[in-house]
Amino acid sequence: MREKRSELEERLLQGIHGKKELKREERNRYLGEYEERVIRYLTREQVREKGIYPEILAAMRHPAARKLIVDRNIELGAANEYIKLARENGLQFKRVYSPDFKGDVGLVVVSDQAVEVENREVMPRKEQLKEKGISDTIIENPGAKLCNQCWQELREKAPEELRNYSRISFLDRVIGVKCICKKNEK
Ligand SMILES: [Zn+2]
Repeated sequence: MREKRSELEERLLQGIHGKKELKREERNRYLGEYEERVIRYLTREQVREKGIYPEILAAMRHPAARKLIVDRNIELGAANEYIKLARENGLQFKRVYSPDFKGDVGLVVVSDQAVEVENREVMPRKEQLKEKGISDTIIENPGAKLCNQCWQELREKAPEELRNYSRISFLDRVIGVKCICKKNEK
């Protein structure tokens, strides 16, 4: 009887220890946060891409969002726009580093409690836009000024991406600014 009991105790203890270990691993994957509190995250590569992921802006506007956390390995310049948006949306911001961090997570928007979300990861921008039928010229040039036709294309197929582009103004046209779709025509 005695032995059986201690075996059970041991198994229980191991179970608790195992869970702790798992939680630690989980936190090392999400910049020190529990997965259940992560509303959305980006990989380091995604943070470094030009332009803003609209999914992250949406996550910052989630009613439970509290903090934006950025991996300290990421150059501040690459995260600037996200930091600005966090401030605008009333979130705290911090940069973190630990030698124990694992994986490729570069940025997380987190809550201070468990949040139910459908997707914590974000599909790479290029893949998303390709799937929506946006032309490669537009996909490859975030930040570009677009002619009416390209603007219209983007507005119809991926309106959430408009903020990563601007529209060629009358004045631009006067000084000869050309859309990226024209530059490739030779
Ligand atoms: Zn164009």
